[in-house]
Amino acid sequence: MMKTIGIIGAMPSELVDIRKGLPNSEIQKKAGFDYYLNQVGDTRVVHVCSGIAKVNAAVCTQALIDTFQPDAILNAGIAGGMNPEVHVCDVVVSSEVLPHDLDLHFLKDYPPYCGIYPADASLIALARKTCEEFGVKVFTGRIVSGDEFVTDSARKADIQSRLTPYAVDMESAAVGQCAYRNQVPYASIRCISDNADDEGAMSFDQFEKIAAKRVADIVLRMVEHF
Ligand code: SAH
Repeated sequence: MMKTIGIIGAMPSELVDIRKGLPNSEIQKKAGFDYYLNQVGDTRVVHVCSGIAKVNAAVCTQALIDTFQPDAILNAGIAGGMNPEVHVCDVVVSSEVLPHDLDLHFLKDYPPYCGIYPADASLIALARKTCEEFGVKVFTGRIVSGDEFVTDSARKADIQSRLTPYAVDMESAAVGQCAYRNQVPYASIRCISDNADDEGAMSFDQFEKIAAKRVADIVLRMVEHF
């Protein structure tokens, strides 16, 4: 049976190279999103631009699941580096995701009774193998998300001291939470565009496209081996 893989990116810049690699898509509209459909070998690929931040990402993920019943979801994009070992243009694959701007007690002690969402082991392994094929330095670690672009060294230090993540972004936790609730295997693959510090905004502007292209190449290759 044909498998379906969903690829969610937040910004148009993160979808450009995916759309170049998968031309002539059929487009289906749902919940205000354009879902692009392609077939790669025996796999149906659905790629979509969610928009930035957690609500956009959650709604987009749920509509993707309801409409296309994916066997796996990849959240592909760029992120801020949060571990001193991680440098710009390295890739971080999520071991698990969680919000950094919400007291986890609200998720742990009330539905869904889980605040930290583990990524799927075989998707992590495929992502790591693919990065290695490309000669890209890859880390597997915790990714945290918040409705905030972190470009402040003091704010970064605060998040680091509380949660010790490898990367920070604005969507992974929402996609992961939605995937968890629907029991769909999930992984977030993020190429580092900046270090989420006082120089972060400048670095982001310089590396956004380069990092987005790198992660697009990786997920396109992953689809071939899915
Ligand atoms: N400078 C841009 C930032 C866009 S938001 C602007 O203000 O218009 C940043 C996007 O890239 C989000 O989708 C997020 O997931 C990711 N991202 C990259 N670096 C980040 C960081 N340091 N903090 C939070 N999100 C980051």
